[in-house]
Amino acid sequence: MRPVPLFDEHSRPGDDVTEKDRRGATVDHLHPDHNFAVNLMKHLVVPTFVLDAECRVIIWNRACERLTGVRAEEVVGTRRHRLAFYDEDRPTLADLIAMDATDRIDTLYADYDVRSNNDHGFHAENWCVMPRVRTRQYLHIDAGPIFDSDGRLLSVVETLRDMTVQKEAQAELEHLASRDPLTGLANRRRFEEHLGYEWRRGQRTAQPLSMLMIDVDHFKQFNDTYGHPQGDACLRSVAAVLASAAARTGDLASRYGGEEFVLVLPGTTRNGAQVVAERIRAAVAALRIPNKALEHAGMLTVSIGVATGDPGALTQERLVALADTALYGAKHGGRNQVVCAPDTDPAGGG
Ligand code: GH3
Ligand code: MG
Ligand code: MG
Repeated sequence: MRPVPLFDEHSRPGDDVTEKDRRGATVDHLHPDHNFAVNLMKHLVVPTFVLDAECRVIIWNRACERLTGVRAEEVVGTRRHRLAFYDEDRPTLADLIAMDATDRIDTLYADYDVRSNNDHGFHAENWCVMPRVRTRQYLHIDAGPIFDSDGRLLSVVETLRDMTVQKEAQAELEHLASRDPLTGLANRRRFEEHLGYEWRRGQRTAQPLSMLMIDVDHFKQFNDTYGHPQGDACLRSVAAVLASAAARTGDLASRYGGEEFVLVLPGTTRNGAQVVAERIRAAVAALRIPNKALEHAGMLTVSIGVATGDPGALTQERLVALADTALYGAKHGGRNQVVCAPDTDPAGGG
């Protein structure tokens, strides 16, 4: 039985598929079932396109036109579909399959959340900018090859799903889970994740890593004198100083807990870390936040412990302990000062 095109009220049966000039040459003289299949694909609500084995577009459906703003007649029979999704000319997932170059997926889709290969093809996710309509969307992409009975590649079908809302919600959740709500700095969980990551990187690159432990001096007295809300405002001011001190890529300022903060400085030597610490100490004193503690002319100050280690030679727990001990030394030395841990030795005696 001949299938009736269901979706286009203006077309006569077979219209779309014999429209060789506009909709591509390869769908001519097809069996009626094929006509139906092609029509179905064109009207599918899911953005879909099909490439032949030479990466030329055979089908570019209406939903794909709506998504990208690029019309089928602009791309069918060409390889110009590549410009529909990105600002640069780069292969789509379907191109990579057609070119048998799926080993490049990793480099082209570095931001993937999902990257896996199964018997049904490949799926991945990426931010696309759709240059024609300028709508940045996070797309979930599925692409799979179609082979003939001899196992030769006939075509590759790619479908796209807009996951922008879900991706943004996920990013927001990740942000909330990694931030300290009072100061906006990274929280302790994020600090530990980051330290672990930078520690492993330091092992690979044989770079030192420095850590600053920062504790507000006589903060209990500050709260007792000025009240908790003022204490909170004070912590935010100290946090702002730390955030601007974490200037380089990989630097991270975080709230370790209470009125204690920690700064991770990957690739920074002991001398470099000492300079950063001294700058922070001076910047906090320069805020001239009054604190009626006996020491330091009634101004709010911080004490800082600095430790630097070779990630190949000691553990990150040891580095944290060294920074903590150095901070303790700064407190006992009279506060408002920077103390560096002695050079670490691999045996752990430092
Ligand atoms: P030291 O110079 O030895 O560090 O003395 P300190 O008073 O700063 O240390 P202590 O540990 O005795 O007191 C820390 C205070 O920090 C007590 C606690 O109420 C206060 N604190 C911790 N978290 C917060 C916060 O989120 N907001 C406010 N306002 N205060 C906090
Ligand atoms: Mg304190
Ligand atoms: Mg403390």
